[in-house]
Amino acid sequence: MKLLEGKTAIIFGVANKRSIAWAIAQTLHNAGARLALTYQGERIEENVRELAGTLKDPIILPCDVTKDYEIEQVFQDLSHSFEKLDILVHCVAFARKEELERDFHHTTREGFRIALDVSAYSLPAITKRALPLMEKKGGSVFALTYLGGYLVVPHYNVMGVAKAALETSIRYLAYELGESKIRVNGISAGPVNTLAARGITGFTKMLDVYRERSPLKRNISAAEVADTGLFLASDLSKGITGEIIYVDAGYHITGT
Ligand code: NAP
Repeated sequence: MKLLEGKTAIIFGVANKRSIAWAIAQTLHNAGARLALTYQGERIEENVRELAGTLKDPIILPCDVTKDYEIEQVFQDLSHSFEKLDILVHCVAFARKEELERDFHHTTREGFRIALDVSAYSLPAITKRALPLMEKKGGSVFALTYLGGYLVVPHYNVMGVAKAALETSIRYLAYELGESKIRVNGISAGPVNTLAARGITGFTKMLDVYRERSPLKRNISAAEVADTGLFLASDLSKGITGEIIYVDAGYHITGT
């Protein structure tokens, strides 16, 4: 029997075939889970529908995570197809380009608000709406984060502040939802060449630095992040909650 046979999952944040969310979708699907994917805006819809064509019986729903009514609609629609929800995956982040280009101390109030809203508040916002479907049997929630939420990484700027808020949200949610047997964790991934990553100034240099300095002397792949996602989604991790797992070839343990 497959690891996620009979399980259902919703994944937020597939934009294209390079998205970490898509790697996670494929891995959870191969492990037997039935999937719902969300996309933001018509621009992305065609991409996501084309990718989802390779999955068995997927559910595709629009969702801009800054809009409460769209989140409500997602879970209302989902409740018609899924009796219960076992897995919720958060792979959503956004900061305005200019906030990543200038120094952090020039971050605007609006730029700060947008980055925190999309990249951090969205986790409690979607988790809250998922509860009626998740509380029935318990489940696993996990979100994607980055080292820049804990240490200073040049150019990561307000996204680092948003990831710090996301990681703290993971711990508060884990604390509150434990009694409902819902586990909440994070995966802190090393750099992977995606649409969002390319918005970070000096991203290519970052890949070089990780290759040179990480203990494993290489970059990681989206598929490796997805494998850890499978672990967190499955009962193999049933004793773990409130944790951030680094999938970064060990880079985070190094000093100078
Ligand atoms: P990606 O493919 O560009 O995914 C980011 C997703 O966020 C896109 O699907 C994007 O949709 C979505 N998004 C942005 N604003 C949204 C909104 N208001 N409502 C709903 N969705 C919205 O890039 P990725 O690298 O795979 O990112 C996935 C996650 O991994 C993010 O949390 C990112 O911070 C994290 N991460 C990435 C790396 C890396 O190096 N790539 C490393 C560590 C952590 P649109 O394209 O339509 O805006």
